[in-house]
Amino acid sequence: MSIEERILELEAEIKKLQIEINKIKDELKLRKKVELVFPYSIYANILKGLAHPIRVLLLKLISDNGRYFAELLELTRLSSATLNFHINALKVAGLVRQDVERGKYEITDLGRQFLDILMNLNVKLGEFETKELDLYCFKCGEARMFADISPFYIRLWCPNCGGKHGSTWCLFLLNPFGEDWRHKNIDVLIKESIMYSYKQTGDSLKESRCINCGVKIKYKHYEDRIVGECKVCGFKISLDIHDISLDRLAEYWIRYRKIKEKVEGRVKRKGKECWKVSLLDSKGEVKLTQYIEVKTGKIIDEEIFE
Ligand SMILES: [Zn+2]
Ligand SMILES: [Zn+2]
Repeated sequence: MSIEERILELEAEIKKLQIEINKIKDELKLRKKVELVFPYSIYANILKGLAHPIRVLLLKLISDNGRYFAELLELTRLSSATLNFHINALKVAGLVRQDVERGKYEITDLGRQFLDILMNLNVKLGEFETKELDLYCFKCGEARMFADISPFYIRLWCPNCGGKHGSTWCLFLLNPFGEDWRHKNIDVLIKESIMYSYKQTGDSLKESRCINCGVKIKYKHYEDRIVGECKVCGFKISLDIHDISLDRLAEYWIRYRKIKEKVEGRVKRKGKECWKVSLLDSKGEVKLTQYIEVKTGKIIDEEIFE
């Protein structure tokens, strides 16, 4: 064996050893003993600082070169009292401080560390399990739907008309059960998640709040949809209002497993201009009809056919 060959062989050995060492290092990291040297209430208080979507948003906004109160007021369109309350929570938690001379809010090192932690969570939060449901797509009625389930959200998608993992369209829901979703019956999980998300969306619309970050935004009301765009966090939403309301959809969908929605057109109902929309079972029989007011999306009337 030449010297060159021997060197190559040794290099390969070293590489193998390095991989082994890294494996051991990773394992040690995983098993690192948890040592909390300060009173636990201190850790809990820091976490309280971020216990609201608006505070997460504020920390992110302030991290970008600092912000003045007036600026934040304009961006978020919150009342002074509400904004003050949330900034104060961030200050008490030690995540934000106020520059004594200029009055500008700035992020602290601790705040910066927390933003890093949140960003590190992105990978974990992107993980989900995919399950095929015993429920047919309510748009096309052609295929069984799939659910991408994470402890935090559920994405319902149709392989026939919605694209893989909902690349064309999906129904994005919040999962109210967290890790406990595994102990839930899948029908209950889907139904409760739809109900929960429907309520959250409804509340945000009623209060003119961004569904994502919670700041005040103006929704635009079109004939068949309500559109919202948040300039602060960038969240966009477009809600079809000529669809059956989600709470009723959940109920009928789970009950019949194969239902189809049919927009029958515009009619006058109780003196109001409405969308007439029905749910049909697999035999094509109408099971439910809703009259939904054009532009507002309010349910004016409902007919049930059993
Ligand atoms: Zn479909
Ligand atoms: Zn927003």
